[in-house]
Amino acid sequence: MKHIILLLLLAGLWFSPARAQQGYPASYAGAPRFRALIVWSPHVEEAHVQFSRDAIRFFHKLSYGEGFLMDTTTHFNQFTDSLERYNIIVMLNTQPHGEKERLAFQRYMEQGGGWMGFHAAAYNDKHTKWPWFNQFLGCGAFYCNNWPPQPALVDCDTTHTITRTLPPSFVIPESEFYMWNPSPRKNKDVRILLSISPKMYPFGIKDIVRWGDFPIVWTNTRYRMIYLNMGHGDTGFTDATQNLLFVNAFRWVVSRHPKGNPFGD
Ligand code: ZN
Repeated sequence: MKHIILLLLLAGLWFSPARAQQGYPASYAGAPRFRALIVWSPHVEEAHVQFSRDAIRFFHKLSYGEGFLMDTTTHFNQFTDSLERYNIIVMLNTQPHGEKERLAFQRYMEQGGGWMGFHAAAYNDKHTKWPWFNQFLGCGAFYCNNWPPQPALVDCDTTHTITRTLPPSFVIPESEFYMWNPSPRKNKDVRILLSISPKMYPFGIKDIVRWGDFPIVWTNTRYRMIYLNMGHGDTGFTDATQNLLFVNAFRWVVSRHPKGNPFGD
C-alpha cells in the first residue's frame, strides 16, 4: 500500500503544472525584476493614514518571494537623487512638497518614470501653486466631494488592459471621492477608466454631489501614470474586484518601463 501511495505521489509530481516552467533558467522565478518606491505620510488625516498602512501590507504581499523589491518611505526628500532606480513610485496619501522634491519628481516622470497615485496624492487647490502637477494629472483643482465616505456604483471602461478583467459596472468599497474642475475627461490626453455612476446621485449625506461627470480612475497618456481616487479609511482592500483593479494598474505601469516589460509578456 505504501508503495502505491508513493507511486501516486511521484506521478503527481511528474504531471504537475510546475514542469511547464522547466525551460526557464533556475533563477527566473526568484530574481528581483524591478523596484518600487512606496511613499506615504503619517502626519495627515487618520483615514488617509489607515488606507496607507493597509496599502503597504497589500503591496508587501505582492512582493512576496522577491517578485520585486519594495522600499517604503515617509521621507520622499531622501530619495530625490535616486528616483531613476525605481520602475514605479506609488504615492498613497501625499505628493512631492517643496521645490527640490517637485523638480526631482517632474524630471523623473518626464524621463519615463512610473507613477501610481491614490486619493490625496492628487489633491490640489489654489494654495498648491504647482501648474506642472495639473498638466501631469490632466485635471484641474479639487472641486467637491461626497461625505461621509460611502460605497459607490462605478461605470468601468473595460476596453483597457487594466480593466479588461473587470465588469462594466460594480460597487466599490466606501471612500470619499473627489470631483475636479475642470474634469480630466475634458483633457484629450486623458483616458478615463472608472467613473462614479450617475445612478448614485444625489451622492452623499452631509456633503452631497447632485450631478456632474465624476471620473475617479484615469491615466494621462502622455506619462506612464495611473491615478485612483480611492484611499480613504480602512476598507480600501476589502473587495476582490477593486483589489484586482489595483493589481492590474500596478502591473500595467510597471510593464511599460522604457527598458522593457519585466513580466516579459
Ligand atoms: Zn479622504
